[in-house]
Amino acid sequence: MQNSDSLQVLLNDTNLSADLKDIAQKVLNLQRISFDEGVLLYEKAELGYLGTLANYIRNAKHGDKTYFNRNFHIEPTNLCVYDCKFCSYSRLIKQRGEGWEYTMDEMLDIVKKYDNEPVTEVHIVGGVLPQYDLPFYTELFTRIKQHRPDLHVKALTPVEYHYIFKKAKIDYATGMQLMKDAGLESMPGGGAEIFHPEVRDLIAKDKCTGDQWLQIHEEWHKLGMRSNATMLYGHIERYWHRVDHMERLRQLQDKTGGFQTFIPLKFRNQDNQMSDVPESTALEDLRNYAIARIYLDNFDHIKAYWAMISRNTAQLSLNFGVDDIDGTLDDTTKIYSMAGAEEQHPAMSTKELVELIKQVGRHPIERDTLYNVVTDFKDHVFAEEIKPKFYKLPVVN
Ligand code: SF4
Repeated sequence: MQNSDSLQVLLNDTNLSADLKDIAQKVLNLQRISFDEGVLLYEKAELGYLGTLANYIRNAKHGDKTYFNRNFHIEPTNLCVYDCKFCSYSRLIKQRGEGWEYTMDEMLDIVKKYDNEPVTEVHIVGGVLPQYDLPFYTELFTRIKQHRPDLHVKALTPVEYHYIFKKAKIDYATGMQLMKDAGLESMPGGGAEIFHPEVRDLIAKDKCTGDQWLQIHEEWHKLGMRSNATMLYGHIERYWHRVDHMERLRQLQDKTGGFQTFIPLKFRNQDNQMSDVPESTALEDLRNYAIARIYLDNFDHIKAYWAMISRNTAQLSLNFGVDDIDGTLDDTTKIYSMAGAEEQHPAMSTKELVELIKQVGRHPIERDTLYNVVTDFKDHVFAEEIKPKFYKLPVVN
């Protein structure tokens, strides 16, 4: 069956409304959909329809390939000067006694723990505190690269950079150049939440604005560097806020081409100031992945954090536009578990991750941060699976 066959079935469906048929035709022709069509998808489209369109795009871009990486996280602190309502790191939620604040040496010790491990990336992100300033992070990045030059440093979001550069009284362009010179190689996608001020002012008032978030990524892209983007969905935002968020990302991507991956982040309601807001259903999560895949035609990858949405939903998401399910993690992040994610101890071995992908008929590929292939696991046999062709019998002399 050709990739386009299921789309043709939709187009021939006499029960499908004309507006949804128009969108399906655009997707088949690889044309961009409009803002209003994005909102229409959220309001009107059923899961099966969305999956058909998103899977068509996903397969056209990547076939069955499904990416993951081997990384570990460092969270410098779980305390924060800001007060985001959805966050369990917020200063209003946490007493200082409950927090950790790693020193530079403690962070370097975490890096050294992985000296003999085949990890390719360290992902550094956490709360914002004054001592984690420009001299601190430039020295940290430099020392990590001195210790292990092959480890890709993916670190901090515009939330931290905005705070750090303001404190250092330098502009974004100068600041990002200094970070690059120190060894920063890419930026994760966090801190984006929902860009529109109508929502952002209610859930994440004091930190960088949506425009500032985009400006910092733009400066980073101008240096020829890559980054990711997220969207925190499923709380108080309306559907059009999500489309507005993706529209701003799509426009910046047209300008710079510097984004690699879009990562929808499901709002979780544990231990934060929005515990009364219900969480989205798994069905809504899948619809959201699919619409992101359809809307963001200029993004190569859509990622689902398996630790956030559970292994089963991550498997399902591979039929709804997702082509990347993040990394092996090794239980080094607390961000998801503290917010009430399915996985309270998010660790998965490479073999488990590969099996998870193969179980749903996809082709597992370990990538590095920039999507270069590290290992193709399609026909890979793990050492412990190699069975002897004969059984050794005891020898009696
Ligand atoms: S979301 Fe980020 S900036 Fe906001 S309180 Fe949490 S750690 Fe701080």
